[in-house]
Amino acid sequence: MARIVMKFGGTSVADIARIRNVARHVKREVDAGHEVAVVVSAMAGKTNELVAWVQDASKAEGANFNIYDAREYDAVVASGEQVTSGLLALTLQAMGIHARSWQGWQIPIRTDNAHGAARIQDIDGSFLIKRFGEGQVAVIAGFQGIGPDNRIATLGRGGSDTSAVAIAAAVKADRCDIYTDVDGVYTTDPRIEPKARRLAKISFEEMLEMASLGAKVLQVRSVELAMVHKVRTFVRSSFEDPDAPGMGDLLNPPGTLICDEDEIVEQQVVTGIAYAKDEAQISLRRVADRPGVAAGIFGPLAEANINVDMIVQNISEDGSRTDMTFTVPSSDLGKALAVLDRSRETIGFELVQHDTGMAKVSVIGIGMRSHAGVAATAFKALSEKGINIRAITTSEIKISILIDGAYTELAVRTLHSVYGLDKQ
Ligand code: ADP
Ligand code: ASP
Ligand code: MG
Repeated sequence: MARIVMKFGGTSVADIARIRNVARHVKREVDAGHEVAVVVSAMAGKTNELVAWVQDASKAEGANFNIYDAREYDAVVASGEQVTSGLLALTLQAMGIHARSWQGWQIPIRTDNAHGAARIQDIDGSFLIKRFGEGQVAVIAGFQGIGPDNRIATLGRGGSDTSAVAIAAAVKADRCDIYTDVDGVYTTDPRIEPKARRLAKISFEEMLEMASLGAKVLQVRSVELAMVHKVRTFVRSSFEDPDAPGMGDLLNPPGTLICDEDEIVEQQVVTGIAYAKDEAQISLRRVADRPGVAAGIFGPLAEANINVDMIVQNISEDGSRTDMTFTVPSSDLGKALAVLDRSRETIGFELVQHDTGMAKVSVIGIGMRSHAGVAATAFKALSEKGINIRAITTSEIKISILIDGAYTELAVRTLHSVYGLDKQ
């Protein structure tokens, strides 16, 4: 007997027929004698619809961005998961399985107070372990918990992955299966590169980079938790026949295992390509070149909760003025410009230029630590396709390149092929 946490994403629970299919996956594990907890997302598209309603309802007159109360945002957007958890519990009951739905506050899944992007702080596993003891399948609403203010808090978009891994860690599950609409983690998003290949295994560190750099197959925080708590996490498909051979394999189910680096025998130099669209570039021209300027620019942006990403500063020619370029999500551009305008005097710059519709394309691989020339290969390949590079940032295991968003697909496919990722 094993203890398994199964998470099903939005497309997997998009309607009642799919929820029935999910229930068959659950039944397979229950019939095999395992203890099972299930985490569900809202039906596909539901959370987007709820977010749009919140924005519409809270649009401030005359403002070009929404100001909304994050606690009420959470009250609204957490509702999608309440529906699917109840529906799956009902479906399981109709199949003769002892199942019950639970909301985040009932477990409770305790979070911090950062409404809209809360972090899980504590889950007392004993509540669920008691349910296992009663032979119950607990169906838990993902994406939500309860904050110190005693209100529902949501975990940021894609947060049900994090709910699942956190629960798996709390109950010391043998496995956490993230069921989605693809059958594993691929070398790049299979939606934009059909030649992408499924990886049998990927290291925690690489998955962390892939997720942070745009591969939304797993929420970043879920990978962090899996890494810290050593949760054996698989990404696999809910669309495969639940009773096909091998689906119930305990140690090696079909899909991609996220694991420690040393479990991966054949290490490639480059493991994957990720991309993030909808980045905006902001350049401050002729900024005073003196200590405290960067703090003066990025401090107020951080206080306004704006996520600044790539930062490039030139060395000034004469030590008096320099240029500073950085990126923010396009949706935050208006807010960022307003913040910069307010601190213009204190920072001391002459001109702000901005551009939306940028994309960041990244090459990821732990093999880069010990291989030279990976970046040069990317630059050459992109230049041969006439793609202009606007900014570059690197770390030990990744290279990120900012380009015009119109070239995203071309850049991803070019990089995917130049590192041989489309070959077996
Ligand atoms: P869910 O609703 O199940 O949480 P998501 O839409 O959040 O599913 O994540 C699955 C999607 O992630 C896939 O449909 C795929 O398009 C996308 N994706 C992006 N990068 C990758 C990748 N490297 N491997 C697999 N899927 C990826
Ligand atoms: N339903 C939430 C979202 O769309 C959480 C999730 O799907 O993981 O972001
Ligand atoms: Mg997701």
